[in-house]
Amino acid sequence: NTATTKYIWFNGEMVPWENANVHVMTHALHYGSSVFEGIRAYETPNGTCIFRLKEHIDRLFNSSKIYRFDIPFTKEEVMDACCKIMTENNLPSGYIRPLVFIGNVGLGVRVPDGAKAQVMVGAIPWGAYLGEEGLKKGVKVGVSSWRRLAPDTIPTEAKAAGNYLSSILIANECAQNGYDEAVALDVNGYVSEGSGENIFIIKDGVLYTAPYTCGLLPGITRLSIITLAKEVLGLEVREQRIPREMVYLADEMFFSGTAAEITPIASVDGIPVGCGYRGPLTEKIQKLFFDVVQGRVEDKWGWLTPVKK
Ligand code: PMP
Repeated sequence: NTATTKYIWFNGEMVPWENANVHVMTHALHYGSSVFEGIRAYETPNGTCIFRLKEHIDRLFNSSKIYRFDIPFTKEEVMDACCKIMTENNLPSGYIRPLVFIGNVGLGVRVPDGAKAQVMVGAIPWGAYLGEEGLKKGVKVGVSSWRRLAPDTIPTEAKAAGNYLSSILIANECAQNGYDEAVALDVNGYVSEGSGENIFIIKDGVLYTAPYTCGLLPGITRLSIITLAKEVLGLEVREQRIPREMVYLADEMFFSGTAAEITPIASVDGIPVGCGYRGPLTEKIQKLFFDVVQGRVEDKWGWLTPVKK
C-alpha cells in the first residue's frame, strides 16, 4: 500500500508528508531499534472511530519498555496524535501507524543512556489486507518452513520491527509457493501465527487459538474475538497448543489482525479446510466483528474512540 496523505505527526508536530524524513545514519535503520503499532479507524454512525486505541498505545509503550526505549511523550499525547492524524488528513477510515524509533545516536549497538526515542504517527487509507475476495471466500495458505521466534531470542510480545524479518521470510516463501499467506509454527512445531495475523481454528463448534507462549504477537483483534465469541455468541474458546495436523482436520479456520481483520482460510497446503471456503461460524464471527467496529451494535466494551472530541 503506497497511499500518501498530507500530514505526518512527527515528534509532536504535524509536518507535511514529504518533510517527514530521517537521516541514513538512523540507529533504527541499522539495528532495527524500533517498535510500532497498526491501528484501524472505521466509519461509524457516530463519525470516525478508532478501534481499541488505548490497548494499542498500551502495547506500544510495553514494547518500548521491554527494549528500554524512552518515549518523550505521554500515552495521552500519542493517542491524541492518532486522532489528529485522521482529522488533519480528512480520512473517514484508515490504518494508523505509530512508530517509536531510535534516531541518529551513533553506531554503537547499545542505545546511549539518556537518548530519547523519536515518535511518528502516520495514517493511510487501507482496504481489506488480503483482498475483498479473501474476506468472502477465504485465502490459500501453506505451512512455512521458517519457524517463528524462539521465546528466549527475540520477544514476540513486543511489536518490534525486527520481528518482521521473520515475517518477511515467511511471507516471501509462501508467495513463492503460490499461497496468499502462511501458517508459521513455533520452535516446538506447534501452530504459532501468520506473517502478520493470529490464527483461529474451529472444531466441533469450539474455537481454538494458540497461547502467548507459542511465539506469537498477542493480538488485540485476537483478544476482541475471544471476548465476542464468549460473551455474545456463547462459544467455548480454548487457548491451547495446536499441533500441525489439527489445521488439516479443522472444520473452519481464520486469520485475525488489525490489517487482516477476520480473513477466512480456505485451504492449508492444498488441503481444503472444511468446506473449502468461509465456514458458517467464521461468517457469524466476522459479521459480528464488523458490526462492532463499524458501530452497528452497542459498544458495551468501550472499544471505539471518536476522533473528534
Ligand atoms: N501477529 C503478527 C505478527 C502481527 O503483525 C499482527 C498484526 N499487528 C497480529 C499478529 C495481530 O495483532 P492485532 O490483532 O493486534 O493487529
